[in-house]
Amino acid sequence: MEVLSQGKAAVYEEPIGPAGVRIRERPRTEPKPGAVAVAVQAASINHLDLWLAHGAQRVTPPRVIAADGAGVVHASDDPAWKPGDEVVLFPTLCCWECEWCRAGENVKCASFGVLGEHSDGTACELIHIDSRNLFAKPKALSWEEAAAFPLTFLTAWRMLTTRAQLRADETVLVVGAGAGVAVAAIRIAKHLGARVLATSRSEAKRKLALELGADAAFDSSAFSKGVREATGDGVDVVFEHVGPATLEESMRSLAMGGRIVTCGSTSGVKAEVSMPRLFFRQASLLGSTMGNASEFESVLKAIDHGLRPVVDHIFPLDRVQDALVRVDNTEQFGKVVLSVAGGSA
Ligand SMILES: [Zn+2]
Repeated sequence: MEVLSQGKAAVYEEPIGPAGVRIRERPRTEPKPGAVAVAVQAASINHLDLWLAHGAQRVTPPRVIAADGAGVVHASDDPAWKPGDEVVLFPTLCCWECEWCRAGENVKCASFGVLGEHSDGTACELIHIDSRNLFAKPKALSWEEAAAFPLTFLTAWRMLTTRAQLRADETVLVVGAGAGVAVAAIRIAKHLGARVLATSRSEAKRKLALELGADAAFDSSAFSKGVREATGDGVDVVFEHVGPATLEESMRSLAMGGRIVTCGSTSGVKAEVSMPRLFFRQASLLGSTMGNASEFESVLKAIDHGLRPVVDHIFPLDRVQDALVRVDNTEQFGKVVLSVAGGSA
């Protein structure tokens, strides 16, 4: 089912970075059967939106950006949802019907995609979307918080639990601690009871990582030395999203039998791996992207038990370019959120 973004919307029009994303007015229509119209209250920016804006995702414009959104049901022909219901959107796109989807493995669906990349996105006043992408908004969260967690918490949850099988008695190292997904990883790992170490180039971000609950934080240059001193043998799990710039140090930080889990490669697409380090230390290198609906439900349950996202800064939808620049300059710690005034449609 096609996702339709309507009303005032932040539209990627030209691959020139943040300046190529502009506010436009889209026509409003009635939702098609199976779709629910949601009046967006808040959306949030991911690094993905920057890649899109810089033309790195091979997405043909125009496209309404953003994967994360929360809002109020405006119109629905699905009896499960009625106008006024407060919802948060599951940001994974899939067919919901194939063998993988029926087995609960939405991320392996041939039609897998990300909201706001492979379809129009949440940075708009009104979104028409498959009713199966709707989940009840956690009551404890503000609109901005509800729009801040979906993509990063879903991604980090799958990485740490399903893929890396992190246990409460283990230590995890979160590389590049300012990024949204890394902040989610720190929060989730602490929530699961693990010991958390973090790295960042920025002293301010190392300080924030400690405030967030990290047990120790290290400068990004040659961080494995400090990590090994703090742990003895190294960490059980390294949470990676940086790639070539950090992978060697991440490998050096691993304990015997350790796992590196990665969801991204912001420093480049090709990395060298020291093969002896991989096999002599019984190490695992695990890839992961987004997450399944069941994992999204697990995140929602964890939020009910106190897990919280981190909102860095809130911009009105009209200032989407400023919001993108903040993420482009990696100034943020946590999530940059777009507040959609007039989202009541
Ligand atoms: Zn499918």
